[in-house]
Amino acid sequence: MISEKAKTQLLIGGEWRGAENGGTYEDSNPATGAALADVAEASKSDVDAAVAAARKAFDAGKWPSMAASRRAKIVAKMAALIAERSEALALLEVRDNGKTLSTAKGEMGAIVDCYEFYAGAATKNYGETIPPPLPTYLASTLREPVGVVGAIVPWNFPLLLASWKVAPALAAGCTIVLKPAPATPLTAIELGKIALEAGVPEGVLNVVTGSTRELGQWIVEHPAIDKIAFTGSTATGKIVAATAAQTLKRVTLELGGKSPSVVFDDADLDGAVAGALYGIYYNAGQTCEARSRVLLQAGIYDRFVAAFTEKSAKLRVGNPEDPQTHVGAITMREQHEKIKSYCQIGAFEGAKAIFGGCPPSLADPFTSGLFWSPTAFEADPSHRIAREEIFGPVVTFVRFENEADAVALANDSDYGLSASVWSQNIGRANRVARAVRCGTVAINTPYAIFPGVPFGGYKQSGYGRELGIETMRSYSETKSLLTYVGEKPMDPFRV
Ligand code: NAD
Repeated sequence: MISEKAKTQLLIGGEWRGAENGGTYEDSNPATGAALADVAEASKSDVDAAVAAARKAFDAGKWPSMAASRRAKIVAKMAALIAERSEALALLEVRDNGKTLSTAKGEMGAIVDCYEFYAGAATKNYGETIPPPLPTYLASTLREPVGVVGAIVPWNFPLLLASWKVAPALAAGCTIVLKPAPATPLTAIELGKIALEAGVPEGVLNVVTGSTRELGQWIVEHPAIDKIAFTGSTATGKIVAATAAQTLKRVTLELGGKSPSVVFDDADLDGAVAGALYGIYYNAGQTCEARSRVLLQAGIYDRFVAAFTEKSAKLRVGNPEDPQTHVGAITMREQHEKIKSYCQIGAFEGAKAIFGGCPPSLADPFTSGLFWSPTAFEADPSHRIAREEIFGPVVTFVRFENEADAVALANDSDYGLSASVWSQNIGRANRVARAVRCGTVAINTPYAIFPGVPFGGYKQSGYGRELGIETMRSYSETKSLLTYVGEKPMDPFRV
């Protein structure tokens, strides 16, 4: 496992090596500012080498044409190795990202589940038998691996989001160039080691690290890559889609969100408050599916806000390694600045601050860490803080009168990732769930992310689905196979 002050390397073609030009950048712990590692700064030539290794491993055919049951065993072995090392991996994630230990431990369990799910899926990437188009034909489809995948991930759930791509891509028989986010590269490097140990052949999983946006851009531009699996912001997703179009790569995009919690008068107040609280402050609000807009029906509004405010005051913010902490650090200084600036925008626009809006005061060694207190505003739906993705522990409360208003408000967004509906009237909850245009609706629960349940966005939250069995299709091409079985030879010209 990577130890403090380590010097990390790139994984290319089964070998660990420094960046070709010897470059490194410093990766630090956002909770304390302490230096963690000198990370290899890949240049374009390193990307070329990683793509060439992945291409060679794919074209050689060993991995893509290996019996699916054998690939499945290797993916399952990765799950076992991650489970074995989950304590150490969780701690590494905490130090690199600033998230709380309890959050990171939960993620390790979800990562193991993800590899186990796709180990099972590897042998079930079925084609179809098609009713014969003519009596003299047999027709069927095969699912073949799409080829070399460029997997680009953000910093909020580093190993989890890498695994959502790596596990199905490996199961489908693809080879991969994985690029973690600049601020959180360490668990992706550990994943490279685990893959090799589990028996993933050399060149099948390559890991390139670097601090620049160009690194991702080079991967998306590279003509020898077949598919880009991207998770990140909607702004970058648009650049990725436009760039990938130049070489007509297959693309899946998991992008940003501004997801609502819709709370009706008939909701169980305690459950809705607890769920909405977790829905925004979990992972310090740095979650794509954070329920950052709480839409409240007029009859429950005051009671809900009072109960939410009371509960928020009990949240412990600070030391991410303390198992009692609820809200850890903000991963990057730019993100901390962004949260601060949105709180200022909210106040400037006339939103009413209810609590928070500033960093907490913490003792050493966290005085120079990047923390933000849980924050809430009463807002108008037109306010920027109620419309734009802040990606921090900042929630807005907006009032509505009836079901039609609730649906209109929930849908009044460029995003469409997730929503929660809180109501004890199951008919209403299901009606609203169907009317809200987003990829996942959770009824009476803040989250609904499990392997097997497809996850992804409508509208500008992206396209494609992760975590589902259908995800295997996005790492596959469909090949149609026609066999002539007539007694006489085919002779269409009859000459
Ligand atoms: P980002 O878009 O800035 O970066 C994401 C990744 O893309 C990073 O690895 C980055 O280095 C790389 N990148 C940057 N410029 C690139 C380019 N031109 N071409 C290719 N790659 C490039 O996002 P971020 O700030 O790291 O992450 C936060 C965002 O991710 C939020 O908007 C959040 O909602 C979103 N997110 C979405 C999901 C989801 O499943 N929908 C999950 C987690 C995070």
